[in-house]
Amino acid sequence: MSTKVAVVTGANKGIGFAIVRGLCKRFEGAVYLTSRSAERGAAAVEALQREGLHPRYHQLDITDTRSLETFRDYIKKNYHGIDILVNNAGIAFGRHATDPVAIQAEQTIHVNYFALVTTCDILFPVLKNGARVVNISSSYAHLSNIPSQALRDKLKDEKLTVSGLSALMQQYVDAAKQGTHAAEWGNSSLVVAKVGVTALNLKINSVHPGFVDTDMSSHNGPMTIDEGAAAPLYVALDAPDTLRGQLIWFNKDIVSWD
Ligand code: NDP
Repeated sequence: MSTKVAVVTGANKGIGFAIVRGLCKRFEGAVYLTSRSAERGAAAVEALQREGLHPRYHQLDITDTRSLETFRDYIKKNYHGIDILVNNAGIAFGRHATDPVAIQAEQTIHVNYFALVTTCDILFPVLKNGARVVNISSSYAHLSNIPSQALRDKLKDEKLTVSGLSALMQQYVDAAKQGTHAAEWGNSSLVVAKVGVTALNLKINSVHPGFVDTDMSSHNGPMTIDEGAAAPLYVALDAPDTLRGQLIWFNKDIVSWD
């Protein structure tokens, strides 16, 4: 039987790290902790080794096409493909960030939406039949966070393609650069990015991991990283195959996207 493979992006810390920890405990196969920094990745692997766990490691920067292609080729060469892909990597500007809206919009959408799409474009060809993909979304992803009804209609139009969705995300970035985004799109780049991720998700599941004590939440979240990893692990390992295109809450409930 061929070795099964699970891959988690942005796994050197936070929820991704805990997802790797959980997979190491329960997934029968090779679990890849990936990170953009090899140094931070090595430290994370060592931390898990000290717990008696044995993740494998590969460098992976989701904003770097070469890095994604190198990883894809490594998988092709060494395995039959990927069984579980958890798209966890992401960035967020803190509440008190002083960067201009145009910069925040461009970078937030670039990493959280466009790089996730590129990751899927490059890694989906090596997904095995029946593979599970988990995109880590957010409570921000509710469509109702987008003020414009016309935009909400476009975002949930069943005829919307991935390139159509990407064009909408680019329209947001362009509007933010002009300072004309607020009325239609609202004021949060992370809302737009996670709405994009969830719209992309129609045959995949999105998970809101909860408000978790990590660097991203400035350690304000009450939940531990392992508690934040519980719903992603449920969707990756335990959920019935019929679960598709849903937004899953940290308590494992299916919640409405609207
Ligand atoms: P952290 O900031 O703790 O971790 C984010 C991870 O993403 C880090 O490992 C970071 O690496 C990595 N990353 C960032 N950019 C890239 C990149 N270009 N390539 C590869 N990895 C990258 O955040 P969380 O653990 O809190 O967040 C994980 C996910 O959960 C995100 O998608 C976030 O939006 C989502 N989420 C989190 C919530 C929370 O309360 N914490 C609530 C709802 C959703 P590096 O160390 O190199 O920066």
